This record gives sequence, structure tokens and C-alpha cells, in this order.
Amino acid sequence: MKYDVIIVGAGVAGLYAAMNLPKEKKVLVINKREPFKCNTFYAQGGVALAVDKEDVALHVKDTLEAGSGLCSEEAVDVLSKNSREVIDDLISRGFKFDSDKDGNLLYTKEAAHSRERIVHAGGDATGRYLHHFLLEHNPHAQLSNARVVDLLIKNGECYGVTVLDHRESRNIYADNVILASGGLGSLYEYHTNAPTISADMQGLCVMKGIELERMEMLQFHPTVYVNSNDAQKMLLTEALRGEGATIEDESGRRFLFDYDERGELASRDIVSKAIYEHAKKTGSKVYLSFNNFEHVYFTNRFPNIYKNLKALGFNVPEQRVPISPAFHYAIGGIKTDLNGRVPSVKSLYAIGEVASTRVHGANRLASNSLVEGLVFAKKAVLDILNNPHPKASVEFEIADEVMSEKDDKEKKNLLRHIMWEYVSIVRTKKGLNEALKQINALLKEKIGKLLKFRLLTAQAIVVSALAREESIGVHFIKKDNNDEIIDDANV
Ligand SMILES: Cc1cc2nc3c(=O)[nH]c(=O)nc-3n(C[C@H](O)[C@H](O)[C@H](O)COP(=O)(O)OP(=O)(O)OC[C@H]3O[C@@H](n4cnc5c(N)ncnc54)[C@H](O)[C@@H]3O)c2cc1C
Repeated sequence: MKYDVIIVGAGVAGLYAAMNLPKEKKVLVINKREPFKCNTFYAQGGVALAVDKEDVALHVKDTLEAGSGLCSEEAVDVLSKNSREVIDDLISRGFKFDSDKDGNLLYTKEAAHSRERIVHAGGDATGRYLHHFLLEHNPHAQLSNARVVDLLIKNGECYGVTVLDHRESRNIYADNVILASGGLGSLYEYHTNAPTISADMQGLCVMKGIELERMEMLQFHPTVYVNSNDAQKMLLTEALRGEGATIEDESGRRFLFDYDERGELASRDIVSKAIYEHAKKTGSKVYLSFNNFEHVYFTNRFPNIYKNLKALGFNVPEQRVPISPAFHYAIGGIKTDLNGRVPSVKSLYAIGEVASTRVHGANRLASNSLVEGLVFAKKAVLDILNNPHPKASVEFEIADEVMSEKDDKEKKNLLRHIMWEYVSIVRTKKGLNEALKQINALLKEKIGKLLKFRLLTAQAIVVSALAREESIGVHFIKKDNNDEIIDDANV
């Protein structure tokens, strides 16, 4: 059977695309592992939007400022102008954002937003509520526990995917393929991402010669509880700081003001770097303090954070919690146009975190990613519906490839360590060159295709980071004149 559309990924972008494709269309949504294992499920703070027409200019301005001059103004305009519509669409389909007793939406503020414009659900469980709703309202078939491992491309056109399903590879054909497979958290030792988020499609694009861009632009979240054994670390939402939580060192001093006059309300890259540098300089631990919160308000507004921290033995809001920055969000990705099309391959789209629409520039404004997933999912679907092009069947052979080798797990962990050590918050050319050397050496070893996806993505990140010699936005590179760039990216 051939589908009209295959969607790779069941997070906000993939599922909202599915929701907007008419029931009569033959659509298949594919996701790895259980459906809830995606970043969307874990989103806490909310969804940013331009509250009304007057707010569009201000939302655009805030987004452009956060992006430090590297946003596409056109893309930001599309995001902002369409944001109200997608939120209203969700509400009209029955989704309940938090509202007051008269039914008015409750808007909150997050770092670097100049007004309250973030809608949320279940207090701090926006992602969970939204994901559940989108799954429930998906009118199409869904294949879970399956992993896309190849794109079927011939003469610059995509004809479907190869999927690894219960250890068997098979081809599934479609007129259009939408990649909505999320970011790349699993490349890092400390990260906040779901375990399925391991850069498969970015790595596959490198193999296929499909352009990735802005890969060096990686966002680190400043307030993460990292003292746990899980690879995925617990994020403490920015809404906490927006509503009064403070960051302090062991002595209780709010040191962020030494780095930026906005203190806790500076953008997350500034806060992450300040914490990283302060901890390095002073050796002090860093804490998030909830002293400004009244107990009952805190437990109602942040019920999940309250419950999770309580389970870890923290008596919040009375007690402070140790924090560190951790990898959080991939700004760069597969280059697309403003309809989500991948320019070099017909019938192939990329939306959500896997894509680079240039909306976020050099830094993403808080809560602008769920809305990006919604807006560009809709754009891609409209483009597909407006340009029908049923294809003749083309059969592809299934490649005989080894997915994993015996030692790949240790090599994955080594890669995580390399990325955290040399390609995280503060970079140097020397460190980046060292990372590149080690990644290239790993690529020459006998490894499976799945690890190769990660290594090729990591390589693309390091090569982009080396190419951008000046610090900008989330890319902070310390100058060292003795460093030279090693140009051996092609393996
Ligand atoms: C802890 C946390 C909190 C956040 N809070 C917010 C917030 O408050 N507001 C905000 O705007 N943003 C927030 N973000 C960012 C936001 O959640 C993500 O950017 C967004 O959800 C990404 O959506 P997506 O649909 O692109 O990908 P995801 O939701 O990550 O979904 C990716 C999907 O792709 C599937 N997949 C991956 N590889 C394959 C493959 N090879 N084959 C098949 N399927 C595959 C996965 O199984 C999954 O279904 C947060 C992120 C995290 C981690």
C-alpha cells in the first residue's frame, strides 16, 4: 500500500500535521518506542503567541532580539502572525489551556518576553496535556515502536522510508514524507530530552547530502536538576524564574546581576553561561530558590515540579534545589523553506525541532518552539494539499545494513562525553578540534548505522561551530590564537 503522507515523529509537529490532514487521506505516523517518549510530552512552561494583532510587532521584536540578528525576519513574521490562529484552532477542537473562572486564558511571562503571552495547560504540564490531546485526536494510522532508518530518494525526489520494525527492515511508500523527528539531546552527557531524541534524521540527511544548517546553535537550559542517574535530566521550567524564583550561590548571593542587569530574567543563554562561569570561577554550587513563592500558590501553579522535587526529597518552595545547565534544544537542523519543504528533495518536508526555519536565529525565545511546531506543521500540510502529485510506484531494494555493533553503546557514551566536554556552553577552537578528531576517529571504526547517525550529526555541529569564529547568541567561543582549524570533516 502506498500512503499519501508518511509523518516521521509523533510530537507536536508530527501530530498537528496529522490532525490537519483530512481523514480521507492515507496517512501513517511513525514513532520510536512509546508515543509519549518525545520532547513535546515533557514541555512544561507553555506555548508563546502574539496575543492579538497589536502584539505581533512586539512578539516579532522579542524573537528577533533573542535571535541576535540571525533570525529570518520573514520566518519570524510567519510564526508570529499565525500563532493566534493555531492556538484558537486547538481551543476550537476542544483543547483546554489554563483559564480563569470566567474562561479567560491565563497568560504568563517568561525570560526575554516583554509581556505576558505564554499560554499553558495543567499548570506546568503543557506538553503532557497537549500531547495527550493530539494523540487522541489523530485521525490516522500510527506505527509506534518503529524506527525510520532510511529515506527512499531517487532523482531528487522522496518516495518513502525504510522502517526498522521489530528488527525487520521494510519499505513504506508515500507521495510525501514529513520529517518531524525532533532534536538531538542524546548526543550530550547532560540533557533534558526524551530518550528517543537521537538525531537519526539529521545524520541520515548528512548521508544523503541533504543540507543541515546552523547546527552550532544549541541551547542549554540553565535550570536543570542533574544529580540523578538518568540520561534525561529534570528541567525546572523558566516560568519559575519568570514568576519569582531566584538563582543563588552557596552563600545565598544572587550573582546573576554580576553578568547581566536583568538577573534571572536575562535570556537563557546568558543565564546558562553565567552559572557555568560562576561555578567554574568560584567552585560554588548553584541553587534555584523559591523563597518568593507562597506554598499554596506554588503547589497549584507548579504541581508536577512540586511532586517531582518532593519525591527527590526537596521540601519546596521552602527549600532550594541545586541546579546546573544542560543541553536542551537544537536551533539548527534540516534546512527548509517557509512551507517546511526541504529545498533539494521533492516531496520531502521537515517541521518542528528537526527543521531549521531560521525562526530562532542564534537563540530561541522561551516557549517559541511548540508554536513553531504548530505553525509550520500547518504550513507543510497546506503545501501538500495545495500541490497534489500522485506518483508512479518505484520499488527500492532494502539495503542490507548493520544497525548496531557490539561496542556501540560505549562509543555512544564516549560521544556524549566528548560533546559535553568540548561542544557545550563555552567552546574553544582547540576543544572543537579535539572533538572533531575524536568523532572522525570513531567514524572510521566498525560501527552500526544508528551510531553513525549520531556521529555524523555531531560532526556537522562541530564543523559549523568551527566555521563560526565569533561568539553570537548561544554560540560562545573563547578566543585562542594558537588554535588552528583541522579540515578533515570528510570521512
Ligand atoms: C523538558 C523540556 C521542556 C520544554 N518546555 C518547552 C516549553 O515549555 N515550551 C516550548 O515551546 N518548548 C519547550 N520545549 C521544547 C519543545 O518541547 C520541543 O522543541 C518540541 O516539543 C519538539 O517537538 P517535535 O514535534 O519537533 O519533536 P518531539 O516532540 O521531540 O517528537 C519527536 C518524535 O520523533 C520520533 N522519532 C525520532 N527519531 C525517529 C526515527 N528515526 N523514526 C521514527 N520516529 C522517530 C520520536 O519517537 C518522537 O515521536 C521543551 C523541551 C524539553 C525537553
